[in-house]
Amino acid sequence: MNVFTIQKVSAGWNHLVSSYKWPSKNISYDFKMGGGLDVNDPALIKSAASKWNNVSGINLNYSGFSGNNIWEENIDSLGRTTVSPVSGTKQISKVNMIIDSRSDWQIGGSSIPSTKYDYYTVVLHEFGHWFMLNDDSSHNSVVMNGTLDKGKARQNLQAEDIEAAVYIYGK
Ligand SMILES: [Zn+2]
Repeated sequence: MNVFTIQKVSAGWNHLVSSYKWPSKNISYDFKMGGGLDVNDPALIKSAASKWNNVSGINLNYSGFSGNNIWEENIDSLGRTTVSPVSGTKQISKVNMIIDSRSDWQIGGSSIPSTKYDYYTVVLHEFGHWFMLNDDSSHNSVVMNGTLDKGKARQNLQAEDIEAAVYIYGK
């Protein structure tokens, strides 16, 4: 369902965004019951959501029941976000975010052991896909860079990430 069309955000940045959009800046999310999340995961997920909220007009909020679910499952990448539009339109209707359940995660903190992947970095990145920001292979330090090594973290949104979000949803 991820059909991206690509355009430049503005002169100077090549950060990739798509023309798909939520009908409202208020986007609810939920944790799937029995979805394998650890006791400490929800706080990190909420913190990552608020980082996007703080720099843009987007308001990701935990609701209890929205249909936009987050859970853990065995997948072949660190995280996966699936965005579904209203049929035949570019209006987003539903998103699911899955975090891999088998990866060796560092849950919390900014010091990441060389044997672990940073959970927070992955969640912050996947939330970017909720707005249909695309993976950005041309900037190594941005949250929307599409690869992550063990022992590394990108826990703060960079200018390119922020500009892309603001481009779509305002401040
Ligand atoms: Zn990605």
